[in-house]
Amino acid sequence: MELAWKVEAGSKVKLRDYDPNYVDKHTDPTSARAELEVLCAELGELQELLAAAQYHSLLVVLQGMDTSGKDGTIRHVFAQVNPQGCEVRSFKAPTNREQAHDFLWRIHRGTPGRGIITIFNRSHYEDVLVVRVHNLVPEKVWSRRYVAINNFERLLAQNGMIILKFYLHISNEEQEKRLLARQKDKTKAWKLSAADWAERKYWGAYQEAYEDALSRCSTDEAPWYIVPANKKWSRDLLVARTLVDTLRQYKDQLLDKLVLRGEQELARIEQIQKPAG
Ligand code: AMP
Ligand code: MG
Repeated sequence: MELAWKVEAGSKVKLRDYDPNYVDKHTDPTSARAELEVLCAELGELQELLAAAQYHSLLVVLQGMDTSGKDGTIRHVFAQVNPQGCEVRSFKAPTNREQAHDFLWRIHRGTPGRGIITIFNRSHYEDVLVVRVHNLVPEKVWSRRYVAINNFERLLAQNGMIILKFYLHISNEEQEKRLLARQKDKTKAWKLSAADWAERKYWGAYQEAYEDALSRCSTDEAPWYIVPANKKWSRDLLVARTLVDTLRQYKDQLLDKLVLRGEQELARIEQIQKPAG
């Protein structure tokens, strides 16, 4: 099963080496849809296990240029996950209140507790992406953040959080196509913002900022995955495969925790039911 491209810890990413048009040659849109459906169902089951075990949590970080498909990925990949155990957090430009704190304050509050899946639609990485590209803080400030991010994510991982970060990789031409398509579709135009076109001028600077974030912040406990995302059906499939493949590796541990919880509860019940005297 071919997965999204994992960025090995310590490696140096050059995005032009990654083809945004890439698709697994054993798949086509029809077979991918069928496989996605099976994977979505399995993801739903794994989430149920995660929720019952009450030990691990799962954080999925989605990043990518405008129109790269962050919303579509959430809709398609998490379609079968029980909403009771799942949260989506979208991070926009920080409010005044958020800005009065360190950049991780609002992020930390949004992380999942044990048993919960949280999806970040944009994240703390914006603080080394848009913030860096537009000089919203001095270089001295943003350049320190890579280490802060790695330390923060290590803390989360040490507390039982499974962390997966996906960069949805589209080409400049594909973005233009998608923006034009949204412009023509009355029901999609609301998604546009004039800033999306203005931001295209900074494409090169964004790609460089992404390369640094991917290179400096892919760790064993919180790896980055590059997802070729020009083809939506392939993007969804690769994200789903990578998620399910990762969670499967925790299945035995989750089952152990779940059984343990049950045993503890049964022991308590036994105590209560014991005849007095
Ligand atoms: P959207 O994802 O289209 O709703 O747009 C959200 C906007 O918020 C994007 O333009 C992001 O670049 C921006 N944004 C998110 N986080 C930050 C941040 N920490 N600082 C500045 N802008 C941000
Ligand atoms: Mg936008």
